[in-house]
Amino acid sequence: MRTKMLAFGGALAALLFLPSWPSWPSWEDEKEKGEITHSELREHVAFLASDELQGRAPGSEGWKKAGSYVASKFRELGLFPLGDDGTYFQEVGILGRRGRNILGLLPGKSSARGDEVVILSSHYDHLGVRNGQVMNGADDDASGVAVMLEVAEAFVRSGLRHDRGILFACFDLEETGLLGALAYVRDPAIPLEKTVANVNLEVLGNDILDGLPDSLFAIGAEYDPTGILRDHVETLSGDSGLDIRYLSHGLVGRRGDHFMFATKGVPFLFLAAGTGPTYHRPTDDTETLNYPKLEKTGRFVRDLVGAIVNGAEKPKFKKPGQAMGIDDARALSAILEVLLEESEGLSLRVGELEFLKGSAVKLRAMTREKDPAPLHRATIAISFGRALNIMTRPRPARRRDF
Ligand SMILES: [Zn+2]
Repeated sequence: MRTKMLAFGGALAALLFLPSWPSWPSWEDEKEKGEITHSELREHVAFLASDELQGRAPGSEGWKKAGSYVASKFRELGLFPLGDDGTYFQEVGILGRRGRNILGLLPGKSSARGDEVVILSSHYDHLGVRNGQVMNGADDDASGVAVMLEVAEAFVRSGLRHDRGILFACFDLEETGLLGALAYVRDPAIPLEKTVANVNLEVLGNDILDGLPDSLFAIGAEYDPTGILRDHVETLSGDSGLDIRYLSHGLVGRRGDHFMFATKGVPFLFLAAGTGPTYHRPTDDTETLNYPKLEKTGRFVRDLVGAIVNGAEKPKFKKPGQAMGIDDARALSAILEVLLEESEGLSLRVGELEFLKGSAVKLRAMTREKDPAPLHRATIAISFGRALNIMTRPRPARRRDF
């Protein structure tokens, strides 16, 4: 009787004094323990994007070294190997191409949700050597791999809470048409029904324009009808030090491995800082990345993944009625304003300045509407394409010293 009373008293105290979190300690309280530092991020990038690795073209010696590097980090962290025959490597043979994905699991801890996973992905292949120049791929996608590794380390070393599992996936053959990710979704290590979401990391180390500092794009949240993914981003963006904007999957298209998860109905979020003037160029080097920004991004990704793996509810997948909408108009409007301010340094072609000015006016008007009409959505798509074209034009890469 006495113990019952005590138990009852305890429950009552819990009801009265504790917030209604599912268990203790809360994710919010402990996440800061998982430190992520720009020096370690830089170390990963410096190795993966070094000339020694020769641009990590699939099948090359440098690519092998990159793969071994990621697998050795997984091993050091004690992640569970989810590749073939007890290794971290999942051999890929698809559409005449060969490669290997690298898969390491941090198993979930909750008895109710422990068999579910969030896949945190990046890709380690790049373009190799072109016209005698090494395409080092520091931003694309050594930056994503570095963040993925540091988030893995934060969860493992600091024992951060993870009710669900986290599958750290370093895909191959992304530059060859997302073939590594395609092979994965055809032969998943964990059933896709148990895959709560894919968070995919690409080109995180720079800003598309100097006038948009610390910008990060969150793409695809509109495919989650529960709004959970969007809510997490919204909640975490405030303290992140990042300027986060939403873009629609329909606007961005197949620009990353998350696309393959989308084709299979897995909720996803694609995080990218955008493709600047070093994109797919020999200037995409270690020294041109903004590591303090990458650190902020790492913390944000850690917190986002933590929120998803520990959330009571999980996101769902539903194709939205419209391919793009008001968020795109808002993000693009901001981009065009800055593009116009920076237009002098961009050597615009005849008519481009006029085009940008016209689009900026239309987009600004659209941001005051609730939902842009079909005609307006065409304007969004065309403006996005032209703006991207201008922003990724080669310019002297800025060397950064930190
Ligand atoms: Zn890439």
